[in-house]
Amino acid sequence: MEEIILIKLGEIVLKGLNRRSFEDTLIKNLRNRLSKAGKFNIKIAQSTITAEPQDAECDMELACEIVGKTFGIAAYSRACKAEKNIGDIQRTAAEYLAQELEDAESFKVEAKRSDKKFELKSPQICELTGGYILEKYPHLRVDVRKPDITVTVEVRDFCAYIRGEAIKGAGGIPVGTGGKAAILISGGIDSPVAAYTMAKRGVELTAVHFASPPYTSQRAEEKVCRLLEIVSGYAGRMNMYTVPFTEIQEQIKEKCPEELFTIIMRRFMMRISERIARENDCSALITGESLGQVASQTIKAIGCTDIVCDMPVFRPLIGMDKDEIVVISRKIGTFETSIEPYEDCCTVFTPKHPRTKPVLKYVEQAENELDCEALTERALENLKLTRIGFGEN
Ligand code: ATP
Ligand code: MG
Repeated sequence: MEEIILIKLGEIVLKGLNRRSFEDTLIKNLRNRLSKAGKFNIKIAQSTITAEPQDAECDMELACEIVGKTFGIAAYSRACKAEKNIGDIQRTAAEYLAQELEDAESFKVEAKRSDKKFELKSPQICELTGGYILEKYPHLRVDVRKPDITVTVEVRDFCAYIRGEAIKGAGGIPVGTGGKAAILISGGIDSPVAAYTMAKRGVELTAVHFASPPYTSQRAEEKVCRLLEIVSGYAGRMNMYTVPFTEIQEQIKEKCPEELFTIIMRRFMMRISERIARENDCSALITGESLGQVASQTIKAIGCTDIVCDMPVFRPLIGMDKDEIVVISRKIGTFETSIEPYEDCCTVFTPKHPRTKPVLKYVEQAENELDCEALTERALENLKLTRIGFGEN
């Protein structure tokens, strides 16, 4: 029996004139990603992609896991090829879904006929296939409302496919169709979720992480890499730049009022991230901020940080509660890693009483005590690049 993966496109189908380029990007993404699971032949016809293993080495379990994390897909399922005659369709359905039919008490057959020239109409395909299954599995009864299993027969141009239940896909639109943006990534719960959320809307990511050794450890940075590896299962490969932040933080601590420490530090993060973003062809920044979560995430504080940078800053979690963010974090598999207790540069030198309503004029005055340009340049000269999602880490 020849098994394949049947993939149904998501929102792409609505894209009108851009549809071709969306489809091409999705196919390119699938080709890249599925190469990890073996040799697959990937084709598209009538809003359905088929991924067909080319040899016995192909790992179908892994392939399905990869497909399940690829944005732009509404649903997918493993399916079996049958010849386009009712005899082969009947036999294949009864054999391919043997285990599921054995375990079920009720079933129904659904037919989809994209080849309108096929000799039988959908109701006849259902009736004949259902009748055959009932003969082979006499314990079953037909239930068209709430069956334990739905057997689907899809008659297409060159063959028919038989499948059981489809699995819900990752949704979204294909990564690469939404431009590029730089995610400011920490080891916390929020920023990996922000990264995932924007990748879901087709954005290709570059990651920026600020590290302050010796206040932050090598292991804290490794944790960030591990988080990004998980995110890259959805978002695809990306570069991560680690920015040396120690000197900047020490200078702010030494020369600026304590209550403005965090806000000034965040302004440096934005400036430096914007430079890295531009050099990597990114047109926006992304953060994991959520309004009111901490002192630096009030409207006034965000106003004071946003103003130093000239590109859009996306904050996909801005209106979400922590519980809602945690639900996504668990779903995508980053939560357990995020809660490992490692330090972040944001927790170094944190003031006891940070300003929640900083006034821009005073922030700028305080910053004048620093040589912002030289500090920024020095940090940018000493970036470290780590490649994520290449199986190297
Ligand atoms: P997270 O869970 O993402 O760490 P948080 O609730 O702890 O967020 P903050 O520590 O105030 O909030 O950070 C807000 C945002 O700033 C983060 O979501 C992230 O986008 C960015 N950020 C924080 N620390 C770093 C860092 N070390 N490097 C890069 N970006 C960071
Ligand atoms: Mg944090």
